[in-house]
Order: sequence, then C-alpha cells, then structure tokens
Amino acid sequence: METSSGLERRRRVVLVPCPFQGHITPMLQLGAILHSKGFSILVAHTKFNSPNPSNYPHFTFLTLPDNLDGFDTSFDNLVNAISVINTNCEAPFEEHMVQMVAEEEQVACIIYDSIVKFAEVVADRLKLPSIVLRNINAAYMHSHLVIFKLLAENLIPLPESQLHAAIPGVHPLRYKDLPLPATIEIPQNVLDFQRSDMDIRSSSAVIWNNIDQLDHWPLQQLQQHWPVPFFSIGPLHKMAPDIPTSLLEEENNCLSWLDKQAPNSVIYVSLGSLAIIDEKELIEMAWGLAKSEQPFLWAVRPSLLNGSDAMKSLPEDFIKNTRERGLVVKWAPQKKVLAHPAVGGFFTHCGWNSTLESMCEGVPLVCRPCLVDQWINARYLTHVWRVGIELENLQQITIENAVRSLMVSEEGEVIRQRAFNMKQEVDRCINEGGSSHEALNRLVEFIISLSG
Ligand code: UDP
Repeated sequence: METSSGLERRRRVVLVPCPFQGHITPMLQLGAILHSKGFSILVAHTKFNSPNPSNYPHFTFLTLPDNLDGFDTSFDNLVNAISVINTNCEAPFEEHMVQMVAEEEQVACIIYDSIVKFAEVVADRLKLPSIVLRNINAAYMHSHLVIFKLLAENLIPLPESQLHAAIPGVHPLRYKDLPLPATIEIPQNVLDFQRSDMDIRSSSAVIWNNIDQLDHWPLQQLQQHWPVPFFSIGPLHKMAPDIPTSLLEEENNCLSWLDKQAPNSVIYVSLGSLAIIDEKELIEMAWGLAKSEQPFLWAVRPSLLNGSDAMKSLPEDFIKNTRERGLVVKWAPQKKVLAHPAVGGFFTHCGWNSTLESMCEGVPLVCRPCLVDQWINARYLTHVWRVGIELENLQQITIENAVRSLMVSEEGEVIRQRAFNMKQEVDRCINEGGSSHEALNRLVEFIISLSG
C-alpha cells in the first residue's frame, strides 16, 4: 500500500470552474486543498476570465476555446454567456479527456461548478466519475423546491399584497426573498434554468462551500432530493492554503490606510464583482456614507454602473468632504480587509463568498442584496444567524441610519457580539475534529474510492 505521497499523489482531479470571480475563487481554493492532500490538479478553464497559471505552479492548466471574444459578457447577458460556454467548451473538453484516458492518465474524478454543465455531460459520456461543487447557501438551492411546490399548487403568480408574507414551513423566508419575481408568470427559460440547476444528473456527490451546522435544515431537505454523499467543507478560503485568486488588481495601499484607523471603527463597503446599480443609487450611497460620519473604505468597481466608470461618477464634493475619513478604491484585497482589526462592519450585497468571508472574521454586516441568491443570504444573515442589519433601500437616509446603527449603537454592539461568537463557531468547525475538517477527510477518502 503506497502512502499519500505515493499512490494518491498520482491521482488526478480535473477541476472545471465557472469563469466569474465568485466561482473561480472557491474552485481554485478547492484545488489547493486537494493538492495539499496529495492529488495532482488539472484546471480546465475558459479563455474568458482565465486564471493566471504562474500563480499556481503546482497545477496544470487546460484552456478551453469558448469563442466568447466580442461576446457581450455584461451582467445583463450573463445567462446567454453561460449558455455559449456550455455549448462551445463541451467538444474541446471531451477531446482532451479522451486523450488523457487513452494515455492512461488516471482521472480520479471531474469536479465541476454547477453552472458549467458541459463538464458533467462529458464525464457521463466517458463514464468518468464527477462531483458537483455548490458555492452557495443550501437554503437558496432548497428555495427552488419551494418554488416548484408553489407552482404545483398554482400559488404563483401571487398577488402583490402577499409579497411580504412568510412562506409557510420555510422560516424565515418571505415570498419576496425568492430568487424570482413571484407576482408574475415565471418565464419558461427561467424555469428551465432552475430545473436544470436542481438536476445533478450522474454526479456522484455534492461538495458544499458551507458549514453543516449553519445550513443544516436546508441541507437535510436537499439530501432527500439528491441521495448522494454531501461534503460540507467550507469556508474553503479558511480550509485552503492562502493563494491569489483575484481577477482584478487588488489595491493593497488600503491596508496601510486601515493601519492608521482605530479598532472596529471602519465600515468596509463592497457590492462584489457582478452587481450593478444606477447612478442615482451610487450617489445616494456616497451621501449616506458621508452623513453617517463613520470612517469608510469603499470598493467602487468600475463596472458597478452599467455603461460608465462608477469611480468617475462619484460627486466631487463627496470626495472632498470625506477625504479625512474615507478611502475609495476600485478593488480591495477583501479577505485581508475583513481580517483587519480596524474594520468593524461590512456593507455588502451578501454574495455567498462575501457572506462567508465576513462570518469567518466576526465582522457584522449591513445587508443590501442585489440579485439571485443574495436575498436569501441576507434573510439568513439578519434573521437566522442574526449578525446583520437589513437595508430596505439605497436611499441616503436609510444608509446613514443603518451604518450608524451597526457601528455606534447598542443594537450594533449586540450584533457585533453575535458575529464574534459566530467566528468562534466557524473556527471550531474548521479545526481538527470540527465538521468541515472531518468532511474534508471523508471527501479525500471518497475521491480515492472513486478510482478504485
Ligand atoms: N472581492 C474582492 N475585492 C473587492 C470586492 C470583492 O476581492 O473589492 C472578492 C470577495 O472577497 C469575494 C468575491 O470578490 O471573494 C465576490 O464574491 P461574492 O460571492 O461575494 O459575490 P459576487 O461577486 O459573486 O456577486
């Protein structure tokens, strides 16, 4: 019997990420974890948003021609871009996998992001084992089943007046938290997307970037729907060795600015890599932050506004008036920012990575979801884990009040304490004997068992 540095090291895991920041990051982190466990890693990626191979000397890379050159990959066209990727990458991926098998390279399994379905199609055709990575709150996936049930009972479309009502049996979700507009006839292509998202087809297991204790109830419900092993091994960024994953250049100068701020005094603001807002909302955000009179670090991604550079749309007076206690960057080293002792709050869109990154550092949140799963994440943050304040809208008075409330009120202090307790719980889960640590050991054994 060879040891992990012998037999297992030669076992190859093929990773197929989805080419958006919030999806590439956890897949690369999973690769780093599996490499540290003795597997060799091949990353099959699109040309679009390709990771930089020189950052990962221990991985090998395969570029799949996606034919996305010149294609509109802006937020509004994402579903079409994903469809093009799934269509165009299937054949070149299959060709490469056939060659690998012919050369007797041992492929232990293909681990694919749930969005890039072509990888599972190829795995199934070639009879190679596949595992799907879900970088998402299990409650969001479960909400698909809720929607199918509501549809079967003819309860969708709902009257507008019912949007704020609680959905029976799925506390604390309201109809308005569902990831589609429940007051209209759901378009067929949206339904098809949801049904396909709920179909793991031939996958042998599901890897979750989450923590079993925090997502336990929806995971149990989903386990009945997908009778394959689940491995909740998150938060991946804490389980993995530190590796660069950013597609944009991080402005590290903000860390020395943070060094000069008092502990827990700064609110960090970011709406992630995809969300877009309109110019009026950007300006409301700026004045809301200014009027809160709290120090802030704001990551204003150029594409935050559809069509024009968000940074250039910030009012001059705002920049002048807040120079003493605010810093605006295009893209921040977010994990380091959240871990910095000066950061005492996170004004976030509640993307799943941002949610996990904040929880790991015990940073309480102001929650302003923008799309898809973020509504449910926000609801869980504010009403289940209770580490955040819900922001009803992007108006300056609402922002000013919420930021003050989180940063300097007694209510904020109670939430901060809960966020701190949450960090300790996360630490317990990722350390030896904790649920994520144990699940990772089981996953390694499972992958080894797949290749016999
Ligand atoms: N991020 C970052 N710098 C920024 C803004 C975001 O590094 O200025 C990272 C953040 O740490 C997270 C990812 O981008 O890992 C965003 O993923 P998330 O799931 O939160 O949201 P998405 O971008 O997918 O909407």
